[in-house]
Amino acid sequence: MKEEWDIYGVCKCGWCEEAPFGRLVHIHKEVCPECGTHKSEWTLKTRKWIPKHKIIIKGHWEDKESK
Ligand SMILES: [Zn+2]
Repeated sequence: MKEEWDIYGVCKCGWCEEAPFGRLVHIHKEVCPECGTHKSEWTLKTRKWIPKHKIIIKGHWEDKESK
């Protein structure tokens, strides 16, 4: 899970891959693996992945009955 901002090559279909040194040329793919769009059509964006929040399970107190 990444916490920092990184530079990604982003395809118009939504696919993205981290661009080493912020350069598309360093992504070792010529076309998008999802839709086949050539890398010259990709855009560079600085982004980070935001994971969904974990589900908080609510609880309650239970007192032991005194005898
Ligand atoms: Zn694509």
